[in-house]
Amino acid sequence: MSQKFDAYVLEKQGPAVLTQLTDQDLPDGEVTVDVAYSSLNYKDGLALTGKGKIARSFPMVCGIDLAGTVAQSQSAQWKPGDEVVVTGWGMSETRPGGYSRRQRVRPDMLVRKPDGLSLVQTMAVGTAGLTAMLCILRLERAGLRPGDGPVVVTGAAGGVGSVAVAVLAALGHEVVAATGRPSTHDYLRDLGAAGFIDRSELAEASTRPLETERWAGGVDTVGSSTLASVLKQTRYGGSVAACGLAGGNDLPTTVLPFILRGVSLLGVDSVMAPTDERVRAWQRLGTDLPTQRLDAISSVRTFAELPQLAEDILAGRTRGRVVIDIGG
Ligand code: NDP
Repeated sequence: MSQKFDAYVLEKQGPAVLTQLTDQDLPDGEVTVDVAYSSLNYKDGLALTGKGKIARSFPMVCGIDLAGTVAQSQSAQWKPGDEVVVTGWGMSETRPGGYSRRQRVRPDMLVRKPDGLSLVQTMAVGTAGLTAMLCILRLERAGLRPGDGPVVVTGAAGGVGSVAVAVLAALGHEVVAATGRPSTHDYLRDLGAAGFIDRSELAEASTRPLETERWAGGVDTVGSSTLASVLKQTRYGGSVAACGLAGGNDLPTTVLPFILRGVSLLGVDSVMAPTDERVRAWQRLGTDLPTQRLDAISSVRTFAELPQLAEDILAGRTRGRVVIDIGG
C-alpha cells in the first residue's frame, strides 16, 4: 500500500510526533497487519514522552501492543483476515510498534485472538493484562490454590494490578488490594477485591527482616521496599510474582524470608515470554477474566489523545487499562 497512514514516531529527542508513513517505511517481516487497536502501558508513557530510554534505535514507532487483522502474509501460519494480537517482542524498543495504522511483524510474534475476547478487549488486556496472567500462572505452578489464604496485589488500581485483582478474585482467591488511592476502593471492590491495604503500609519498610505471616501469595508491580515488605509478610511456603518497578528497581531485603520460610520470589517478564506460555496465558484470559469486569477496567481513547495519556500514566493519573482506537 503506497497510501499514507499515521504513526507516532520517536526521534532521538522526544516526545514522539504524529508522522505519516507508507508501507515502504515498515520493517522486514512476513506478516503485515492492519492495526485496529493498541493500548497504553507504563512503558509506552516513558517512550512517548521521551522520559525513559525505551527505544534503542531511531526513528522508532512507539507502542508495545497491537491488535488487528492480517492484511498480507508470506507465512503459511497466517492468512489475510486472521484476527491477531502482538505484545512485546521488543516493539517500540528494537522494532517498530503498534501506534501505527499498519505494521509488519515476524510470524512467530503473532498470537491468534483468543475465543471469548473481542479485538478491542484483547487490548483492554494488552501487555499489562498478559503480565498479570503470566504472574498468576507462575503462582499456580508454585502451588497457590483458591482457599490457601489472602493474596496481595500491589499497585492494584494500575493496569497490571487491576487485571490481577479481577482474575484472582474470579478464580476464588481472597484478594487484598494494595493501593495509594482510596478513591479506587469501590472500583477495586467491583473487580472482586475482598480487602485493602494502604500503599504506604508496605512502602514504609520496617527494619525487621520478618513480619507476621499474612499472604499465601502476591503479585507485585511496585518493587523496592513494597516488594521487600510483601516478602517479609508472606506465609511459610508462599510465593510472590514480581513483575514491576513502579516504586523503584531496588530490593532492600534479606535472605530470611527465603531460607527461614521457604518463600519463593518468581520473576515475570512478558516481553520475551515464549510463545507457548503466551498462548496459555491468552487462553486463560479468555476463560477466567469476566468480560464485564474487563469492560469496567478499560476505557477506549483516540489516537490523538496519546500524548496527554502518556503524561497521565507517568503521573499515576490513569486507572485500569486504556485502549487506543488506532482508527479513531
Ligand atoms: P500503571 O501505571 O497502570 O500502574 C502502576 C500502579 O503502581 C499505579 O497505578 C499505582 O497503583 C502504583 N504506583 C505508582 N507509583 C507508585 C509508587 N511510587 N509507589 C508505590 N506504588 C506506586 O502501570 P502498569 O500496571 O502498566 O505497570 C506496572 C508496573 O509493571 C510498571 O513498573 C511496569 O513497568 C511493569 N510492567 C512489567 C512488565 C513485565 O513484563 N515484567 C509488563 C508490564 C508492566 P495505586 O494507584 O493502586 O497505588
